[in-house]
Parts: sequence; structure tokens; C-alpha cells
Amino acid sequence: MVAQLTHFIAGKKTPPSERQSAVFNPATGQQTASVSLASKTDAEQAIAAAKQAFPAWRAVTPLNRSRILFAFKTLVEQHRDELAQLITKEHGKVLSDAQGEITRALEVVEFACGIPHLLKGEHTECVGTNVDAWSVNQPLGVVSGITPFNFPAMVPMWMFPLAIACGNTFVLKPSEKDPSAPLRLAELLQEAGLPDGVLNVVNGDKEAVDTLLQHPDIEAVSFVGSTPIAQYIYQNASNAGKRVQALGGAKNHMVIMPDADLDQAVNALVGAAYGSAGERCMAISVAVAVGDIADKLVEKLTPRVRALHIGNGMDSGVEMGPLITQAHRRKVKDYIDAGISQGASLLVDGRKGGQPEGEGYFLGGSLFDNVTTDMSIYREEIFGPVLCIVRVPDYRSAVKIIDEHEYGNGTAIFTRDGDSARQFAREIQIGMVGINVPIPVPMAFHSFGGWKRSLFGPLHMHGQDGVRFYTRRKAITARWPTGIRHDTEFVIPTMK
Ligand code: NAD
Repeated sequence: MVAQLTHFIAGKKTPPSERQSAVFNPATGQQTASVSLASKTDAEQAIAAAKQAFPAWRAVTPLNRSRILFAFKTLVEQHRDELAQLITKEHGKVLSDAQGEITRALEVVEFACGIPHLLKGEHTECVGTNVDAWSVNQPLGVVSGITPFNFPAMVPMWMFPLAIACGNTFVLKPSEKDPSAPLRLAELLQEAGLPDGVLNVVNGDKEAVDTLLQHPDIEAVSFVGSTPIAQYIYQNASNAGKRVQALGGAKNHMVIMPDADLDQAVNALVGAAYGSAGERCMAISVAVAVGDIADKLVEKLTPRVRALHIGNGMDSGVEMGPLITQAHRRKVKDYIDAGISQGASLLVDGRKGGQPEGEGYFLGGSLFDNVTTDMSIYREEIFGPVLCIVRVPDYRSAVKIIDEHEYGNGTAIFTRDGDSARQFAREIQIGMVGINVPIPVPMAFHSFGGWKRSLFGPLHMHGQDGVRFYTRRKAITARWPTGIRHDTEFVIPTMK
């Protein structure tokens, strides 16, 4: 008997929807649950619940909203192992990595707990004689989030803690591939004291998403996923008059300068390229070897990739788990085939060896050398454990290929030279930059977001951008009777 996962609307689990989708444990290939796919009516019920909850929730003071988030933080900490296990069993990433995901997600809750401070507006006394002006940041209403499979807890928690802290109510549509963690988070938030209807979870696919994009009661849409869907979301939700932030795919380059600490760079590359089986939007998928460091890099990196310990993420000592689905495994394998036929040198072949027997969706780590910028393994996002080495003669050529790539999520430079690092950080056309840091995911009090086709919309996730995204600013100008002049003015007000 597999578990039945439904929706969480107005504080209750709903009965199953007519359409269902199977949820698998990617390490075993076994179906573990059946998740409801919301109909338009199901999604409309979630929106209606959020709409009903909004007036009372926006009236709760920021301090009291923050206290609920504090209680939620404590509950998530207490349930960290349970949540991490849910993630590993449905996503496949190793347990320690799933625990790391919870830690990064909690940072956003910690940030959102500061909402009384974050919401403060600006005040100017005497913008004119006896006239004061100030601004306040008010919630939008019902907002929604649509999230990908690769961070089933963290990406939803980039969104809803801050959105509800700002006084909005929320409809979350998580990935149908690993819905258990987000459903559990909604229960924990209810246990923390969140009123029913403030956070609703609808599981589903395009039908639920399209309902959120078109519904007149949805004020804003946050999306994280692949670039084609991000673009679709951005266009449709913008056309429907909504505020949108849509984060898309990536192809992240790590530049290894000739003066880099090679051991440090190799350690960083192995973790950043193969951690979570490369299924991270900030994974490094291209190593750009500058000058004569390439041969030494290959020499040190190749045995490390061959030695990756692949297996069920629940088992200790495992470094890399399976891919999310059989179909995705096939897609990554097709990219490896394409890389060979397009002329790249396959130094480590992840299609064979080093993987557990059985039905899981495992693939070993692959390493390509002599990759050129016209190859599909270079141009496209593979989202799997495949690292491409591109050899370039100098720093300028490294910058050029990175800037010319259509994606602009993250990048890193490994060097001992402060001048090169500073110049790189200043000029590179990428949203998040690491200097000797391979995965520069900003902390919650900064904002996360890429450039170019990695993000559609002006505002990034969490940090101050998150507060901006989930609030609307109101400017108030006031004077009291002593300051009121008795004549009527027919010209545009100017301060005296
Ligand atoms: P996806 O685009 O397939 O799915 C994301 C969400 O969109 C899911 O909730 C899914 O149900 C929904 N969706 C899928 N097809 C849809 C359609 N036709 N119409 C409407 N909604 C649809 O992405 P994924 O495979 O779950 O996640 C992997 C992708 O997410 C990668 O491209 C990765 O780079 C990206 N990602 C980006 C970031 C970032 O911060 N930029 C973070 C994590 C993941």
C-alpha cells in the first residue's frame, strides 16, 4: 500500500483528487506514494482559503507573526532528521546533504523572524512646514509559489516564510516528484500557531499552475525551475497583471587560474559538480582551465571522479545518490553520448561501473575534457553528474565564454591573485560570484538570483529583494490643522 498524498487547504488534508501521479524512491525505483494532481477546482479552493484568511492575517502584528515563525523554526529543528529523510527518500540526495538543505532553509526563517525591523518604512519630518511624510510596506494579498524537485524544502522556504511574515497568505505548488517535505512543513507551521488558510499546499502539474497564473485573486507568483517553464510563467503571469519573479536554469562555470591552489580547486570541483548528483542550480558544470594548469587539473581530478562513492543516500559514507527519475537518467545519458559524438574526450564514463545493482536511477560521475563551446554538453543545462573541462589560453578568454553563455546564475574563480579576483567579480555578467568559493549561494539576508536567462523579473529571492517583492509601498503625507492654510490651491502641491 503506497501513501496517499493530497493537498493541504485551510489547515486540512483534502480527499484525493481524481488525477494522481506516482512518487518514487529514486534509490530503489519503488513507488512510495501517490500524489494528487489538483484540478482547477482544487486550486481555486486553495486560493479561496488564502483569500479568506488574508484580512485577519494582515491584521496580526508583525511581532506576533514573527513569534509564530520563531516557533516554526524550533519545530523544524526538532524534526530536522524526519524532514531530511523525507527528502532523501523522494529526491535521492545523501542524508547529510538533505540536512544541509534544512539548515539553509532555516536561515530564511531566521531572517523572516526579523520582520518587525524589515518592514519599517522611511520617515521624513517636515517635508514642508508642518508637513510630515513617511512610507509603509504593506502586504499584497494572496501570493503563490511554484517550486522545483531539487530542493523540496529549501526553495519553498525561500518563499513562504518571508511572504507570510510580510502579512500575505500563500498558495504553494511544490514539485509533484517529491511533495512529502513541503506537506510536512505546512503541518509544522500549523503546529507553530499559523492560522488555517495562511499557507496552503496544492500538489499538481500544469493544470494547477495555470490556475494560479490566471486567477484574479493571485497578486504575485514566485517560480523556481527550468528556463522554458520560467519564461512561460513570467510571460503568462505578467500578462495577467501579476508581480513575478521566475528563476530558471543554469550552466555555472568555475575558472581555475594558473596560480590557484590546485588541491583546494579540485576538492571544490568534486563537491560542486557531483554533490546532489549535479542536480543543483548552482552546481558547477564547467571547469574553465586557464593556461597550463589544465593538464595538472585533469591529473588530479580524474581519479577523484572515478572514486566517487555512489549509492543509496540513506547509507553512511555515500557521496552521491541517484538521479530523480528514470527519464532524467536517460536524458543525462543521452548528453554523454552526444558529448562523445561531438568530439569531447570522455575521461570518466559514468554510464558504467561504480554503481549499486538494482532498479535505482543511478549514474556515475562523468568527466569530459577538451569540451568546446559549440557542443550541446557545453551549451545546455544537463542537470546531472557531468563535468566539462574547457581549456582556454588566458583570463580574458575565460571571461568571454562565460559572458557569452545564455545562462547567468552562478560562477566562481579560483586564484591567489586578489587583483584578478576583484576584476572578475566586477566585470563578469553573472548574478552570483564566488572567489575561491565554488557554490556562492547567498545567505538569507542577501538575495539569491541569476542574470540573463537564469531569472525573469527584476527582484531576486529572499533578503531585501524578498521583502520588496512581497510588499507594496505606500507613501503618506500629512499635516494637522495648525498647518492648514485656508485658501484653496489649484496648482500642484509644492512644499513651502
Ligand atoms: P521544472 O521546470 O520541470 O518544474 C518546476 C515546477 O514547474 C514544478 O512545480 C512543475 O510541476 C512545474 N511545471 C513543470 N512543467 C510545467 C508546465 N508545462 N507548465 C506549468 N508548470 C510546470 O523544473 P524541475 O525539473 O523541477 O527542476 C529543475 C530545474 O530547476 C533546473 O533547470 C534547475 O536549474 C532549476 N532550478 C533553478 C534554481 C534557481 O534558483 N535558478 C533553483 C533550483 C532549480
